Amino acid sequence: MSKNYVVGFPRIGEQRELKKVLELFWADKCPFSEVEKVSLELKKRHWNYQKEAGINYISSNDFSLYDNMLDTAIMLGAIPKRFEGLQNEDLYFSMARGNKDAVAMEMTKWFNTNYHYIVPELSLSDNYELNASKILSEYKEAKELGIKTKINLIGPITFLGLSKRVDRGESYELFFKILPIYKELLAEIAKLDEKITIQIDEPIFVKDIEPKVLSLIKPCYDTLAKVSNTIKIVVTTYFEHSNEATKVLVHTPVWGIGLDFLYGVKNVESLKLIEESGKQFIAGVVDGRNIWKNNMQVSASLLTEISKIFNKEKIIVSSSCSLLHTPFSLKYEEKMDNEIKDWLSYSVEKLSEISLLSKFFFEGISNFTNEEKEAYEANIEANHKRKISIRIHNTEVQNRVKSFTKLQRDGSYEERIKIQKKLLGYKDLATTTIGSFPQTPEVRKARADFKKSAISKDTYEYEMKNYINDCIAFQEECGIEILVHGEPERNDMVEYFGEQLEGYGFSQNGWVQSYGSRCVKPPFIYGDISRPKPMTVDWMTYSQSKTERIMKGMLTGPVTILNWSFVRDDMPRPEVSKQIAVALSDEINDLQNAGIKIIQVDEAAFKEGYPLRKENIGTYEQWAVRDFKISVSSAKKETQIHTHMCYSEFNDIIRTIEDMDADVISIETARSGNELLKIFKEVGYKQEVGPGVYDIHSPRIPSVEEIVKQIELLLEVLPKEQLWINPDCGLKTRKWEEVKPSLENMVKAVELVREGL
Ligand code: GLN
Ligand code: ZN
Repeated sequence: MSKNYVVGFPRIGEQRELKKVLELFWADKCPFSEVEKVSLELKKRHWNYQKEAGINYISSNDFSLYDNMLDTAIMLGAIPKRFEGLQNEDLYFSMARGNKDAVAMEMTKWFNTNYHYIVPELSLSDNYELNASKILSEYKEAKELGIKTKINLIGPITFLGLSKRVDRGESYELFFKILPIYKELLAEIAKLDEKITIQIDEPIFVKDIEPKVLSLIKPCYDTLAKVSNTIKIVVTTYFEHSNEATKVLVHTPVWGIGLDFLYGVKNVESLKLIEESGKQFIAGVVDGRNIWKNNMQVSASLLTEISKIFNKEKIIVSSSCSLLHTPFSLKYEEKMDNEIKDWLSYSVEKLSEISLLSKFFFEGISNFTNEEKEAYEANIEANHKRKISIRIHNTEVQNRVKSFTKLQRDGSYEERIKIQKKLLGYKDLATTTIGSFPQTPEVRKARADFKKSAISKDTYEYEMKNYINDCIAFQEECGIEILVHGEPERNDMVEYFGEQLEGYGFSQNGWVQSYGSRCVKPPFIYGDISRPKPMTVDWMTYSQSKTERIMKGMLTGPVTILNWSFVRDDMPRPEVSKQIAVALSDEINDLQNAGIKIIQVDEAAFKEGYPLRKENIGTYEQWAVRDFKISVSSAKKETQIHTHMCYSEFNDIIRTIEDMDADVISIETARSGNELLKIFKEVGYKQEVGPGVYDIHSPRIPSVEEIVKQIELLLEVLPKEQLWINPDCGLKTRKWEEVKPSLENMVKAVELVREGL
């Protein structure tokens, strides 16, 4: 008998039904009962998809109205004080999104994915109390359909590890308060049915695990596994190996261990131990976070390798992680090129892959039905065709990238900055912005109309140029010194470049949940990357021609382009990144030849690309820095290179950022309570820097006084010659009514400070 398993399934719906109904509800346009109705339909549909595909282990409680960490906080009764008195959906959505009296809970990235979870707030004085209703009712809903689900839970150790303490202390100190609630929960679950499987996700185990945390594993799982002998616990990790934790888990009475064999190849080291412990082994071999069709032969041989160490009877074939991180179904990709579409597989398609693979592995090809045989052959053929497709391979690109020798710019920073200061003539505390200005409904409409061919190229360009003219006029009037064009032609900082690069593909319906109701549609890199023609030069030269001041050119860096795309799985990431870098270096060369004197290369996602384990950080930094430097290597000494990053957790990477060798970096500061300033003070920083003087993520208009104060704080840690003054990120999500007075205040503040110097 073949056995297969899916860690979790996306919930947003194939047509983003959940998103749509949530947003209607939040806008007071439908009652909550409508949200409940749609949710139930979605859950049923998703269970049925899995059942029809022949999946044995289907999950309940992988659904969520907003986020599973938030659901877990509710399950434990971990409700921050400011939401007390609220109930049900009022409470839930207030925690997620805030309300008029209380700010929302913080949100942050789920490991190294683009999914964001709500960060629970805990305190020693809280009293936790079980609320199991969601978990129990989802199980029953599935059972009514005749589906006995495994119940997915976020494990206590991961829950604590990802929470924050609002009083003093570490969240792990609350282990003794949380564990009893999980125990109670399991006791409730045990009453549901004769035998139940519970999947407990502990992805925190894949990070470098401290001895203190490691020591919680045994008491935790000894306790939970003993709650009832009718419960079978599977502890699941993903995105990396979890060998340290596995060593402990094998000595607890859990029934199974689920490991990611794609992103955690080192998990192989634990196989022998798991085998000896007699536990079930859930083998994550089908990629749950990429869009490529599984290669049945490769996966089958991986399973065969595993079965050399592990008793086949105890193997269960699984996705590498929850399919939450993959789009829903290829069914709606009506416009996609058929050749490329044949290389892809979204969540629904992955279900059939898992099911077929397990049948192949356990029963062999001789037991295939005709249909299965056809599917198997089609899989082999699609993979073969992809491998030999001329659309993937471009020898010219490969040769150029291989022999690319210009690994950095001419001249040291010290030499360059002297030349640049003289040539560009900007003052100390020079004012600038990060690139984008408000994306008005008119701009969005013009872009969309042009895409649909509803307006001509001329009309479109006329509209964009008008916007740029207004944007320049405003900046000049306001007194900003280094200008930007406002980025009206870009809907997204990665997609804009992807659309113009060879080797990039786009989907029509490849939505992936980012947080709550928000979804993103990442482009995908399928082939060697090249730049058929300049991407930004026309817009930049036009913009520069409209002003006497310096116009800053705007590009997205290689690491950010890579991190916000689905990346081909047939080439190592650093090689793909290098191809992008080489293409960008050509763009920079064209820009400077066209008279652009300052060019900003945004690396918004540089930090989030960091590996989960320290052991891999060195390698990542090495190629990420290499490729940033390659992309700017064509810049002459006179051309000033800026970069921008959207965060300030810099303590550990400040030297790496320096190594990127940009002349100027703009960076987030104000929102994170000036954390960054401490580092500047303690360890210093070499290049020029613009620590954002106000938070653009809020509609609030900062006053002149408060910006003056902020600049004075900056001057305490960095000399005026090294400082730039700017907001902390692009302004595209703001309204003109907010941006105008904010920037006017920023310029006034700089004038006041300069007078006092
Ligand atoms: N230049 C981009 C902008 O201003 C940078 C965006 C970002 O950092 N996320 O929109
Ligand atoms: Zn930013």
